[in-house]
Amino acid sequence: MSRDIKKVLVANRGEIAVRVIRTLKDMGIKSVAVCSDVDRDSLHTRIADECICIGPRNSKDSYLNKIQVINAAIITGSDAIHPGFGFLSENANFAKMCDIYNIKFIGPNSKVIDIMGNKDISKQIMKEAGVPVVPGSDGVVDNLAEVSKIAKDIGYPIIIKARSGGGGKGMRIVNKENELEHAFNSAKKEAENAFGDDGVYVEKYIESPRHIEVQIMADEFGNVVHLGARDCSIQMNHQKVIEEAPPRAIKEELLDYLYKISIDAAKHVKYTNAGTMEYLVSKNDEVYFMEMNTRIQVEHPITEMITGVDIVREQINIASQKKLSFKQEDVNIKGHAIECRINAYDSKNSFLPSIGTISGLNMPGGYGVRVDSSIYQGYKILPFYDSMLAKVISFGNSREESISIMKRALSEFIIEGVETNIDFNKELFDDENFKKNQYDTSYLESKIERR
Ligand code: ADP
Repeated sequence: MSRDIKKVLVANRGEIAVRVIRTLKDMGIKSVAVCSDVDRDSLHTRIADECICIGPRNSKDSYLNKIQVINAAIITGSDAIHPGFGFLSENANFAKMCDIYNIKFIGPNSKVIDIMGNKDISKQIMKEAGVPVVPGSDGVVDNLAEVSKIAKDIGYPIIIKARSGGGGKGMRIVNKENELEHAFNSAKKEAENAFGDDGVYVEKYIESPRHIEVQIMADEFGNVVHLGARDCSIQMNHQKVIEEAPPRAIKEELLDYLYKISIDAAKHVKYTNAGTMEYLVSKNDEVYFMEMNTRIQVEHPITEMITGVDIVREQINIASQKKLSFKQEDVNIKGHAIECRINAYDSKNSFLPSIGTISGLNMPGGYGVRVDSSIYQGYKILPFYDSMLAKVISFGNSREESISIMKRALSEFIIEGVETNIDFNKELFDDENFKKNQYDTSYLESKIERR
């Protein structure tokens, strides 16, 4: 038994839309791009077999407009929708609507998205599955008195986090009681503005941890495998900047433990398709589950490089009701991969987004270099969407080789017409502590502050 997927609508834009369309082409499956009316010149619209405009420039009226996306899938006769990341990728209602219209949502089912998407509920469920979670509130906290009591119980520092959070928004670290009121109110306000949900919860702030995440793949027949882990501790404003795989600073036994609990957790919630379990690992090797992302991640290419598995292809096969094409023992982790995100940021001016037309472009290449991007010479960067322009991925036999390949790649990467963080990123690969693999989630920010 299998489900026939002949045409897929890609409900996204930018590099991830391009990346998904490329695999669809490799698989001989027709692709449909969607775009807002200002986005008709984006690369994804040009490389797809078909393109359909779904609304005006504001994401909420186009890329986040569920009815329009479903309509586009119906009109174009698409059998399935790949949501990419961001936009509707973790929207349980959207996944449910796809079911109603008999369009396969390429991801887990809506119930799983719903429970894992709520960070407070998912922590509760993970506890039941035997996964260690960060100590904190049981779900959302409604008032200051409650937060204050929890903070006293677990001890300062604490972190206030948005229930519907993402991209590090709606987070506040609180070191002492007299900072609490301001932090609580401002986290709620930021969460309301960013997610339309001011629900916040409280966690113990784990000092100087590593962010380690495990890539899971699960088919609809109960087979669950992991594709190793990634270290995403080089962050700014709680957002990832550089990721590497495998996480060589973490002991093998600890990684094996993370794989085991991630697979147990995925089985516990009957997870299907691609997913990521995110953890903090403290200096003393304590493990704390943070959240599960029920979609493909930005940093998935580094896992593809070290395992040789095309994650998008597997996602589509799983959605076609095929069994996973490999077993756990077939997964061989080889070499070392690093990803560096290239953003239209002005690193000399508080990393403010930069817009403009790309007047000159030279993309890196050569042995061990992969660039996932959606830019081309003459492309106009729009202020309405995410500022990520490209991801440079280097792959070498060792971490040292991968760093050296990344440095060579970044030195070849020229983007003229807009400010980017290429020079800033170049410096990082020369950083002595980075080279020695001695860093944690606060390393990059403290380095910037020291400058
Ligand atoms: P988002 O969904 O907004 O990306 P996450 O929950 O994934 O938020 O956390 C993003 C980053 O914030 C983590 O990688 C980590 O650096 C930091 N962080 C989150 N929770 C904690 C915590 N309890 N202690 C220390 N750092 C944390």
